[in-house]
Amino acid sequence: MDKLREQIIRENYEIVMEKIEAAKAKRNAGGEVTLLAATKTVPAEEILFAINELGLPAVGENKVQEFLSKYDALRDTVPLHLIGHLQTNKVKSIVGKVDMIQSCDSLRLANEIAKRSLEAGVTTKVLCEVNIGREENKSGVLPEECLEFAAMLEEIEGIEVAGLMTMAPVCETADEYKKYFEKTYAIYLDFLRNKRHNKIESVLSMGMSDSFEAAIEEGATMVRVGSSIFGRRIYPTK
Ligand SMILES: *Cc1c(COP(=O)(O)O)cnc(C)c1O
Repeated sequence: MDKLREQIIRENYEIVMEKIEAAKAKRNAGGEVTLLAATKTVPAEEILFAINELGLPAVGENKVQEFLSKYDALRDTVPLHLIGHLQTNKVKSIVGKVDMIQSCDSLRLANEIAKRSLEAGVTTKVLCEVNIGREENKSGVLPEECLEFAAMLEEIEGIEVAGLMTMAPVCETADEYKKYFEKTYAIYLDFLRNKRHNKIESVLSMGMSDSFEAAIEEGATMVRVGSSIFGRRIYPTK
């Protein structure tokens, strides 16, 4: 990896960290915020640089295939999350390798994660993905279904429900984003109130490059940032 590239990632990372601190100072809820790097299309050596040299604490991949292709390089470093839509038939190949599946949005998927986890002798952490903008083409359960869904997941052995994840609709302004994040935070508070198990730390994963400050101000405990750290994504042509 060349020095210029390292310097760009370092500077970007520092700017994101400063913005996270500033947003934390403004918010009402207390507590820590974890920066998860959304690393789709980013080569493993750049991710390793961010982990080892910059202190990046968590990584999220979208696709199972890409997750697996970087797994040998990234294993035993920081927690590795799956943040993209997950098909039931691909669950088996990542259980035991993935620390958290943030995109759990159906009972069928949850049952498959649980079944494969029990087979592998592990417990897999999951987040309930909420479709907070009620967008037709988006994954996630509807806001009004979320608490009941989370309660059902809590009954399943082999998974642990840590909290909620959402992808807000694309908005023009921070205030527009905040409306969606505020709604998600309200559901998260109810989730915490209803929660029957307290085995693991709770997570509210929301906010991306264009919205992580708004998300933190509205109570996010984890933000998923990609292009603000690694630059614009260049997708390989097939
Ligand atoms: C790509 C991605 C992100 C980060 O997006 P950026 O705009 O690059 O910060 C966050 N969450 C999910 C689920 C993603 O796929």
